[in-house]
Amino acid sequence: MSTLRLAVVGAGPAGAYTTAALLAQLGGDLEVDLLDRLPTPWGLVRSGVAPDHPQIRTVSRVFERTLDHPAVRFLGGVEAGPLLTHDDLREHYDAVVYATGAPSDRQPDIPGVELPGSITAGRLARWYNAHPAAADERLDLDVDQAVVVGNGNVALDCARILVRDPVQLQSTDIADPALSALAGSRIRHVVVLGRRAPAHAAFTHAELQELGRLPGVDVTIDAPSLDGTGPSLDTLRALANRPGSPHNRRLTLRFQVAPVAVRGDARVDALDIVHTELRDGQFHPTDRTERLDCGLVVHAVGFRGRPIPGLPFDDRLGRIPHTAGRVAPGTYVAGWAKRGPAGVVGSNKRCAVETVAAVLEDLRTGNLRAHGHDREVTLAFLRDRNPYLTTREGWRRIDAAEVAAGVSTGRPRVRFPTLSGLLAAAGRY
Ligand SMILES: Cc1cc2nc3c(=O)[nH]c(=O)nc-3n(C[C@H](O)[C@H](O)[C@H](O)COP(=O)(O)OP(=O)(O)OC[C@H]3O[C@@H](n4cnc5c(N)ncnc54)[C@H](O)[C@@H]3O)c2cc1C
Repeated sequence: MSTLRLAVVGAGPAGAYTTAALLAQLGGDLEVDLLDRLPTPWGLVRSGVAPDHPQIRTVSRVFERTLDHPAVRFLGGVEAGPLLTHDDLREHYDAVVYATGAPSDRQPDIPGVELPGSITAGRLARWYNAHPAAADERLDLDVDQAVVVGNGNVALDCARILVRDPVQLQSTDIADPALSALAGSRIRHVVVLGRRAPAHAAFTHAELQELGRLPGVDVTIDAPSLDGTGPSLDTLRALANRPGSPHNRRLTLRFQVAPVAVRGDARVDALDIVHTELRDGQFHPTDRTERLDCGLVVHAVGFRGRPIPGLPFDDRLGRIPHTAGRVAPGTYVAGWAKRGPAGVVGSNKRCAVETVAAVLEDLRTGNLRAHGHDREVTLAFLRDRNPYLTTREGWRRIDAAEVAAGVSTGRPRVRFPTLSGLLAAAGRY
């Protein structure tokens, strides 16, 4: 029997867990190519997780062990898209698992959202994490007040990075351009807006508690009511009763308010909001409106998957339709591309195991078979389609160079902010 050859497209947590589960379940007669459009693996663990949460990034050490396996090749700079379609991949692999995440940012459909100074949380996170797509980003932080719209953990990450003393970010792996911009930031007050009541907020208790521990930052709570039980409500009540200092920066958590329009001529200078009330189990706008002065608005209202040419796509849910990870025999999906943008890094492990169970089932029933593809022919084909193809060795060179650059300043790594810098470090130039 010949070796089963799979492509896992997307080297984020879902791709890494899928590869590990394939190796664990299928053992010997298997080869996996882990493909990513970037020369760096680990998806949002590298480019989403906030730099002041280094312990979350340590999961990548587990992923690195999967990459060390001789049956696994990491091929960076390879993008599934118009130039490398699903049919192309199916011609060269027995099966393809898509773990491409939810790389598009959702934007609210309100007037003024396109004004300079109105940005998505994804854009902010890519900027502070040196994603190559943010290489040309120049955020104007010469403003007194910023507003973050949204009530999940990503909203709190954005608020924390904008409000916290930048000195505390100096020992992190935050992108250098972001560190300098934050060092010169004039922002003294960040307001976080939640449409729903505190008891309905999506952030986790740990993220909320952390806000109360930020040195030099006072937290104020503005909600119609803090009634209710649960750890987050206890913490909100405790934060609401803490004395502040006029010298401190300020973070305000406002509840039951929603944006209706971003205001400004050449750039943002205010956000119009409406108060909401609970009726029939839903939060509806009332006729009470308000204008909040601000020079920066960050919309942390979620993400969407992106269609892959040749694959079905559920436009309403923003993800690839599937049954327990199977799109069709030989084609599978895992992670945020499969479930939508919800859940922590670890949630993708269970999800990957379910997808790999679908692969095994198709092997058992004969719907999936090894066709004896040649590994080197596939590599030559991918190189031809993707001139900036990089390998595991390239990634390891980038990694070593970034870590070495951080040593003298006590930082975990100093990131290359541009794609050309990454490729040069990988040995591609
Ligand atoms: C801003 C932010 C902060 C977060 N912080 C935390 C946190 O602190 N703790 C936590 O547990 N979880 C956190 N999460 C959630 C966590 O990051 C996700 O659960 C997880 O990354 C989803 O994994 P994934 O592999 O499905 O997607 P991703 O991590 O997005 O990985 C997808 C990969 O696919 C690649 N790709 C995309 N399209 C293509 C294509 N067409 N061809 C080739 N490659 C492609 C991308 O480059 C990427 O490497 C955060 C999420 C965000 C957005």
